[in-house]
Formats: sequence, C-alpha cells, structure tokens
Amino acid sequence: NRLENRTVTLADGTAVPCLGQGTWYMGENIKARDSEVRALQSGIDLGMKLIDTAEMYGEGDSELMVGEAIKGRRNDVFLVSKVYPHHAGLDMISKACENSLKRLKTDHLDLYLLHWRGRIPLAETIDGMEKLRKEGKILRWGVSNFDTDDMEELWNTENGKNCTVNQVLYNLGSRGIDFDLLPWQKAHNMPIMAYSPLAHRDSLRTQLQSSPIVNEIAEDHRVKALQIALAWTIRTDQVIAIPKAVQEQHIFENAQAATIHFTQDELERLDEAFPRPQKKIPLDII
Ligand code: NDP
Repeated sequence: NRLENRTVTLADGTAVPCLGQGTWYMGENIKARDSEVRALQSGIDLGMKLIDTAEMYGEGDSELMVGEAIKGRRNDVFLVSKVYPHHAGLDMISKACENSLKRLKTDHLDLYLLHWRGRIPLAETIDGMEKLRKEGKILRWGVSNFDTDDMEELWNTENGKNCTVNQVLYNLGSRGIDFDLLPWQKAHNMPIMAYSPLAHRDSLRTQLQSSPIVNEIAEDHRVKALQIALAWTIRTDQVIAIPKAVQEQHIFENAQAATIHFTQDELERLDEAFPRPQKKIPLDII
C-alpha cells in the first residue's frame, strides 16, 4: 500500500487517502464492466480507497458498477456520491440518496455532495443533507463546483459550516483556485477534492505532457509527465485528488504518484512552466 502515510484530515478528524478514484464514464458499457470492476479493485488494493461517483454518471450505471466493485469490502472504502441540483430539495433528496444507496448496495455514504449549484436555495439543501446525516444515510456532506463567493454564502447559512469538502476542477494547467478558493478553504479548514487532476481536456493534457520542465522533473524522478502533474495536485495535505483510470498501467502510475515529493526548486520550476494566477479567475468547470 503506497498511500499509507499520505492522508488528508477532514474537519471531523477522519483521515482519508490523498488519492482516490473517479468513475465518470465508467459502468456505461456492459462489455467494459469486468475490467472496470477489476480496475477499481486494483486501485483499492494500492490504497486509493476513496471512490467518487454520482447519480448523474451513466444515470446510475456508474453507481451500479461501483456497488459491484466494493462488494464484500464496503468498510475498506470511503464512498462518495453526488446528488443532482434538481434533486437537492427537501422533497427529492431522500429519494435520490436512497436510490444511490440501493445501486451501491450499501446502507450509507461516507460523503454526499451537491454536484453543482442549481436553483434550490442552499438552506434547503443543507436541511436535506443534515436530515440524511441524522438518519445515518450519509456520514458527511459537501458541495462541488462552488467558487469562493458560493462558499462564503454557504458558510454563512445555518449549518453551512458542516460542509466537509468542495470538489472542484484542479490541475497543474488549470490552477485558478490557487488565487483565492484554495486559501479560503485552508483558512476554513476544509479540504479540496480535485477533479480532472490529469487534465481530462485533451489540449491541456498535451500541454502538460509536452512541457520541457515537467518532463525534466519527470525524468529526474524516473516517472511520467502526468505522474508529476498528479503529484503536484496533492503536494499539500489540503487536497484529495480523484483521477479516473481503467487501464492497469494508469492505476499503478497514479498510485505511484503519491510517493513523489518535490523540492522547493522543483515547485518553483513548475510555477515557471504553469504560473500561479495573479488575479481572480472564475472557477473552471467541466
Ligand atoms: P482525469 O483527469 O482523471 O482523466 C481521466 C482520463 O485520464 C481517462 O481517460 C484515463 O484513461 C486517463 N488516465 C488516467 N490515469 C492516467 C495515467 N496515469 N496516464 C495517462 N492517462 C491516464 O479526468 P476526469 O474528468 O475523469 O476526473 C476524474 C474524476 O473526477 C471523474 O471520473 C469524476 O469522478 C470526477 N469529476 C467530477 C466532476 C464534478 O463536477 N464534480 C466533473 C468531472 C469529474 P483510462 O480510463 O483509459 O485509464
């Protein structure tokens, strides 16, 4: 287990691995199901025990696949799912959660996220989340795709301070949150969950992979450029990254990224290649 010593501590004291596994676009093709289940299981074996899914992914098919992968080892994983904004009102959220639990074949989620902000007032979603928490259906709740102003508003809403994480897009090539959101979250003791840590978007990924500086550092560590990018997202103990991978080689490489530590000089060179933002940049979203 390569990730034993790399954890992020949530406000309630729970330690979760700094690397988890995403599942977007998984579970949708029945022919790929076995290899996807095996992929998640290998990732769990390597220590990537946090699994991120959503009712949206394949309209439930991703959750069904995750349910299969964690069968018999539910207690080994930290399970995260997300509710659609239009299901995040008091009348719908219980049913949406119940449906996710059924597909995942479990009786509770470790973390339930509002997938993005919709029209339902935050106060109502928080009430729904708190109710689920009291019922034991979820152990914690959080949000996703919230920018700093949304977080401020959430924080100032009753029980908003119970929010555990904010899941947002973050990678070496898209680091707008370094300007204000990440410092805000640090000040409020709330970790970030970084999605698309490998820059899902092709053009950006190519930029990362072809950067001379990233490649030099990769060579020094005897790893690949994207492993450097992934290791960079989790360089502090404030970020949990959730790369999605089905290919065995990718899973292995991702887990290995948690063993890469940077010198100050390397971090400065990466800043040179992919500069830290000097002004507010609206949150990047997929
Ligand atoms: P990622 O940045 O994780 O990229 C995934 C892609 O990278 C896949 O094509 C995968 O290929 C490939 N890959 C994985 N590991 C490697 C590697 N070591 N080397 C080269 N290629 C690799 O993008 P995602 O957008 O999927 O983000 C990760 C997760 O974040 C999602 O799956 C989802 O759970 C979550 N997410 C949440 C969002 C939100 O709104 N809250 C939005 C977007 C994502 P292969 O599968 O073939 O191995």
